[in-house]
Amino acid sequence: MTLSGPTAEHWAAAVEAVRSTGADDEIQLICHVNPDGDALGSMLGFGLGLRRLGFTRVRATFPGDFVVPEPYRLLPGSDLLEPEAFSEPRLVIVFDVASESRLGALASRVAAAPASVVLDHHASNTGFGGVRLVDPHAAATSVVAEGLLSRLKVPLDAEIAECFYVALATDTGSFKFDMTTVSVHELAARLIATGIRPGEISRRIFDSRPFGAMKLTGEVIGRAVLDESAAGGRGMVWTYATLADLERHGQPPYVLDSLIDPVRSVAEADVSVVVKQVATGEWSVSLRSKGAVDVSGVAVAQGGGGHRLAAGFTGYGEAADVVATVRRLLDEHLN
Ligand code: 5GP
Ligand code: MN
Repeated sequence: MTLSGPTAEHWAAAVEAVRSTGADDEIQLICHVNPDGDALGSMLGFGLGLRRLGFTRVRATFPGDFVVPEPYRLLPGSDLLEPEAFSEPRLVIVFDVASESRLGALASRVAAAPASVVLDHHASNTGFGGVRLVDPHAAATSVVAEGLLSRLKVPLDAEIAECFYVALATDTGSFKFDMTTVSVHELAARLIATGIRPGEISRRIFDSRPFGAMKLTGEVIGRAVLDESAAGGRGMVWTYATLADLERHGQPPYVLDSLIDPVRSVAEADVSVVVKQVATGEWSVSLRSKGAVDVSGVAVAQGGGGHRLAAGFTGYGEAADVVATVRRLLDEHLN
């Protein structure tokens, strides 16, 4: 666990790792499985920065199904995305990955690379990789990525800024969460000053979805359960979605990732849980708390990770068993 942010030595080592890489050397960027706006935005924005520095062989990828969620397909730098990673890259840079398990089969590329740099902001980061730029106080991994680009003397331009803005807006819940500090708004101001259009970007990323996704959301929310006695009486609201639900509405799995937002708005519950089927007997679990519970503790206890108030893990068995396990662990992690 890294509780303090990167030191001057960490930053210097990361700058050196990039500067000692040749312009034609292979650089592999990797973000976490099922990438969100911060994973993709921090990775592609940084990749564009490497291009500005003259690096010619930069690829970006992520493990698992190589499906970029529709809202992120127009991100600048998307042409860096390639499902196939370099087999022996000179430098590997990892974005928004709290533990090696989130790298799947690509974890070995990090371990084998002559140089690797890990940019992250999860308090639960397990400390893998060569140079570690892990700042648990950063609102998004893009904050760390921007910090490294500025130390590499890459000026922000509108393309890099759009990527970092999407990342920052995603991880702060559109500048609503507690980590929305003065410095977050200062960074947002510098990004917007490049000429990007926050209204247009927000509409595209957060406020646009297929009709089928809305109908699916309605159905899944309709089956939510409120358990007021859970979490020491602070309450838990939960729901689940199956692969059959996705199929019935013709939707890809990532449309379920925003479902936690309406669920966590329930006033009677501190904790919210969405259990999303990924295979028979396997579920991706999203946890949120309003403050009473350290849900990252619950997630870590189940082999996952995340932040104090937003975390996740992979659960096994029936959806009801997964929820029962969460309910039991909540009482152990009351703040
Ligand atoms: P979400 O619920 O939006 O998928 O994830 C919330 C937070 O928990 C994110 O910071 C995400 O990186 C982390 N997280 C979600 N699932 C997992 C998991 O299976 N393992 C780890 N280590 N972190 C996870
Ligand atoms: Mn993040």
